Amino acid sequence: MNKLYLSIITAILLFMSENSHSQDNLKYSDLSKEESYVIDSKGTERPFTGKYYKHKEPGTYVCKKCGSALYHSDDKFESDCGWPSFDDEIKGAVKRLPDADGMRIEIECASCGAHLGHVFSGERLTVKNVRHCVNSISLDFVPAVVEPGRYGAALFAGGCFWVVEYFLQKEPGVISVTSGYTGGDVKNPAYREVCTGNTGHAETVKVIYDPKKTSYDKLLKLFLEIHDPTQVDRQGPDIGDQYRSEIFYLNEEQRKIAESKLATLSSKGLKVATAITKASEFYPAENYHQDYYFKNGKVPYCHAYTKRF
Ligand SMILES: [Zn+2]
Repeated sequence: MNKLYLSIITAILLFMSENSHSQDNLKYSDLSKEESYVIDSKGTERPFTGKYYKHKEPGTYVCKKCGSALYHSDDKFESDCGWPSFDDEIKGAVKRLPDADGMRIEIECASCGAHLGHVFSGERLTVKNVRHCVNSISLDFVPAVVEPGRYGAALFAGGCFWVVEYFLQKEPGVISVTSGYTGGDVKNPAYREVCTGNTGHAETVKVIYDPKKTSYDKLLKLFLEIHDPTQVDRQGPDIGDQYRSEIFYLNEEQRKIAESKLATLSSKGLKVATAITKASEFYPAENYHQDYYFKNGKVPYCHAYTKRF
């Protein structure tokens, strides 16, 4: 199909559905009127006007409303349709549902339900043959190289890093979670070395978050609720000091928050085993460990959420 023709058809279809949806989502106070029109009321920005339409920088596109990671820049392509186009999404991040027009498939942020746009297939624009047609205004962009000071970071060890990553990644305001190793003596350790329990490293996740949408305090509480902080050098079936519970603080403020949270748990009668340690170097784990549960479509078996605060 001719690209210009395609973009005209897309524009007509998008505008046709603009007023066909009810306005039933919660309003977030930090959304502007224009953002809310698209994100909450399922409107459509004018084609060729969005700030990410021609954007080419490497990085991750995240939900404007909740900060969840939605698309990698590697999957963005030029479709000439007037809106940012992606031929793949981050696994589990985008929800598909029938549009009220009865023809198209609407896409929403799977975490918060923010309206993103529509998804089309069979247009043969890329090898994957899929086009997520997304409103720029529904997105924020996190560059691959993060400028210091804009985002917060946290390092938590709570057993198998796949699981800790799985739970934290879904939290609104979390930009990225990376599995890796901290707290040992060996430089650039490999997974098999860490598994011997001889390198001193703990399986750790590094969380990058948007301080405007969440906080260290909140993430720390969640961390203490998605693993068992009373187990010593193990977490369920995983035994060894690489599975220990440990908070690696990056500054004094984090140390104080960590101490107060563990004191709260102790006052509730928990025999807390979690250590609080100044962070040493974090080494990202091998690629196949990243996003393990999303990539493999599995659900964790060894950790569960337990309300403790
Ligand atoms: Zn969202």
